[in-house]
Amino acid sequence: MVSRSEMYRQSVEILRRNDIPDSGFDAMCIFQNVFGERNPMFLPQENVSEEHEEQIRGMIKRRSEGEPLQYILGEWDFWNCTFKVGEGVLIPRPDTETLIEDVLKICRRKNLRMPKIADLCSGSGCIAITLKKEIPTAEVYALELSEQAMGYLKWNSKLNGAEINIIAADVLDNRTAEKFRELDIIVTNPPYLTASEMNELQPEVRREPYMALFGGNDGLDFYRRLAPLWRDSLKKGGSFCCEFGMGQHDAVKQILHENHFINIEFSKDAGGIIRTAKAEMEE
Ligand code: GLN
Repeated sequence: MVSRSEMYRQSVEILRRNDIPDSGFDAMCIFQNVFGERNPMFLPQENVSEEHEEQIRGMIKRRSEGEPLQYILGEWDFWNCTFKVGEGVLIPRPDTETLIEDVLKICRRKNLRMPKIADLCSGSGCIAITLKKEIPTAEVYALELSEQAMGYLKWNSKLNGAEINIIAADVLDNRTAEKFRELDIIVTNPPYLTASEMNELQPEVRREPYMALFGGNDGLDFYRRLAPLWRDSLKKGGSFCCEFGMGQHDAVKQILHENHFINIEFSKDAGGIIRTAKAEMEE
């Protein structure tokens, strides 16, 4: 029998030997998950059962082999909800909370009580579901093409009790956009990594779906195609809110401008990086 503290020490050691950067944090998340306790080290001398030991060793092994922590835990927090994640779905990132703030700001500013919102490239559903939880009277549509991601999207909406409209569709197909009219807000975190960024991905990110990451040679393919395709789905004065990568803001602004969007504003994420744009359709 091994104590929790000894098991923790060994786990951190294995992760460190395998060059996992935040070994202490990752081991603690795994302990919290296995024991189902917020503070598993409250009882450091408690013995670890064989079953728990086996589970922890398995998870530490997977993490040592470079699998993302979030996939191993099977869930991750975003805003104030928990989302199921695993192979085939992009892990919700804190940067994307900037998009949530943007949409909430628009709803407050324009006094939208029952906004009609479409989330394009919804993935795990973290954006659509969080928005529905924040604005229960909103009519929210979540569009996703990947079958694997779709499973998580449906699961997450159920687990979080968010009644959203989930649609399996290709957002780059004009037949999809044509079905939407009079939207108040379009929100999207499309794939935006460039070809050269795809070649230099961290090993963890390499395990995430290529389809959710790669945005074409310069990373801007989705903005170029979504802006003209979806502008007519917005109401006059409706808003288009998108996330993009570091340094892409001027190019995205240019694309929005060329597609007759006005009042283009940027927001920074918690790290101070210009991360999102919101733009309006002319009245
Ligand atoms: N933010 C992700 C990353 O940096 C990219 C996700 C995306 O392309 N939307 O890995």
